[in-house]
Amino acid sequence: MLNLVLFGPPGAGKGTQSEYLIKKYNLVHLSTGDLLRSQITAGTELGLRAKQLMDQGLLVPDEVVIGMIENKLEENQLVAGFIFDGFPRTVPQAVALDQLLSQHDTKITTMIALVVDSEELTRRLLLRGQTSGRPDDQNEELIRRRVKEYNDKTAPVADYYSQQGKFAAIDGIGEIDTIFKEICYQIDKAVER
Ligand code: AMP
Repeated sequence: MLNLVLFGPPGAGKGTQSEYLIKKYNLVHLSTGDLLRSQITAGTELGLRAKQLMDQGLLVPDEVVIGMIENKLEENQLVAGFIFDGFPRTVPQAVALDQLLSQHDTKITTMIALVVDSEELTRRLLLRGQTSGRPDDQNEELIRRRVKEYNDKTAPVADYYSQQGKFAAIDGIGEIDTIFKEICYQIDKAVER
């Protein structure tokens, strides 16, 4: 299986690149942000609780997102692989993901990090907020809080994969197609290892 973690702050381009990657490598896309937003739309209790945190730009508890990923791994056996987008966002989530994958006799192939500076992220997210309808994309202070959550809690996840020799950083500013080619190059290199 090919299991990728697509990593980077909000607005780095993970969603856009995921769309290309799932087609090229025939992967199942698992975005915890999308899964949480479906719970909100469905009006579930989990969705209501998550919304309170998401509306403040804060992370939801680890056990909530780990449980969601666990269900999705159960539902999608016999697939070519997964692309994890927006997950893991903390080191305990990364540890849990390794355990879950090993229960399914598989593992993470590599983590690809998209690097984009905070000014560019804020610009992109405010622009996306004009059409995405996402409340967390429409307020500059909230965007800055999400980027801070990323720097405080999520950035250390890169070290976790780096220590396993499974990490590649890519410049996330530039043409979508150029960035995509660079990601594919790194994936193909990781597969050969
Ligand atoms: P995203 O769509 O990935 O930008 O996620 C939107 C929001 O959902 C985040 O700001 C968090 O509040 C929440 N969220 C998504 N994924 C996770 C995760 N892996 N861990 C904790 N919170 C998450």
